[in-house]
Amino acid sequence: MAIKSKYHAVRGMTGSLPKENLLWRTIEDDLIQILSSYSFQEIRLPIIEYSGIFNRSIGESSDIVQKEMYSFTDRNGESLTLRPEGTAGCVRAAIENNLLSTSAPLRLWYHGPMFRYERPQRGRQRQFHQIGLEIFGADSVLAETELMVIFSRFWSSLGISDITLQINSLGNQEDRQAYIKVLTDFFSNHSSKLSEHNLQKLRSNPLRILDSKDPEIIKLISDAPTLDNFISDEARARFTDFKNLLSMVGINFKENNKLVRGLDYYSDIVFEWTTESLGAQNAVCAGGRYDDLIGQLGGKHTSAVGCAVGLERVVELCEQKELLKTPKMPKLFVLSTDAQYSKELLVLCEKLRDMYPKICFELDISERSLKSKMKKADKSEAEAAIIIGQQEIEEGTLTVRPLRNSRAQKSCNMSELEDFLKGS
Ligand code: ATP
Ligand code: MG
Repeated sequence: MAIKSKYHAVRGMTGSLPKENLLWRTIEDDLIQILSSYSFQEIRLPIIEYSGIFNRSIGESSDIVQKEMYSFTDRNGESLTLRPEGTAGCVRAAIENNLLSTSAPLRLWYHGPMFRYERPQRGRQRQFHQIGLEIFGADSVLAETELMVIFSRFWSSLGISDITLQINSLGNQEDRQAYIKVLTDFFSNHSSKLSEHNLQKLRSNPLRILDSKDPEIIKLISDAPTLDNFISDEARARFTDFKNLLSMVGINFKENNKLVRGLDYYSDIVFEWTTESLGAQNAVCAGGRYDDLIGQLGGKHTSAVGCAVGLERVVELCEQKELLKTPKMPKLFVLSTDAQYSKELLVLCEKLRDMYPKICFELDISERSLKSKMKKADKSEAEAAIIIGQQEIEEGTLTVRPLRNSRAQKSCNMSELEDFLKGS
């Protein structure tokens, strides 16, 4: 529970605490391990980019650009933005560093905080964390399918089963233009039900209304014309291929012809993994194809697909269901009987660390009494205390006192420690 203090975290930017981070780390490592096995390479991206990159790629009419970006002018008069998502910066870096000229496809992943000025609530923060994946230079829907099998593997490895893949095709640019015309007519006929914000979207990009989270609007949308009647034969054939591939690799999916995504750079196939277990913030991972973005940002035309997973939401899913009992490193609490031996204790502890790199040694660096050190050892969740005093130093031994069972304490030398812990 947070206590009242003079300074507090910025609203919606809480970070995560030590007791939570074992789970965070396990989840991240799990996905990174899977990504490495699919030959994805890590790219580290700056948190700040020139604002123009986001305006251009995410789209002027998107909620992100309209009202969610943390933008500021630096001392040089340049407009900069804390990244609200990773794709635009990843594309910028790939173009700038000539990564796209290497043999395709290029598979990249990145990790880190994203910033959006949204209304903080369960599953929605202003600083949140994503792992993002991008595949550059792959025309075939095999690329989309690869992203789906990766995430399917990830959910199974975490034990998450109540998750659904929703897919849609946005068609090509012309398909969408034709659709936008009829959608504009539909929403214009219902303009009395639209807020000022949605009326503005109706003027700038009516597709954005389909991405609304407002229950009233969602109800209205259920009667709206659907995009599937407008997509070209080519886009339809790709979508069919994608669905066939998903079936071949045993991934269930739901077609959702209202799924449009909130970022302008998507075209063709889009997808979202959603769950019923997180309330209103139900999207856990989302993405799609964006073949035109690299050209728009000044690179040579290169096909691209990508997606990002919201880590806070994955963590909450795992916590909720008590999935992932994260195995902790075995731990020992190392203390001296008196502060005068603390230097010897430090040196001995370093020797133990050399011999047992997979054990956590919590060194007592306090100058408390032996009694209070033992209390601390008890609370530390260590399996045993290693106690060093005059006698141990002279004999080169350790006194090991088990803390979690009734076994008697024992004197042993350093190389016998592991056997003692195993119970022999
Ligand atoms: P949502 O529909 O929940 O607003 P989005 O469509 O804006 O999500 P993307 O931009 O596609 O999301 O980001 C990918 C993932 O990042 C989302 O599926 C979600 O899990 C996570 N995410 C997005 N915004 C936030 C946020 N403000 N707080 C926590 N997680 C978020
Ligand atoms: Mg959003």
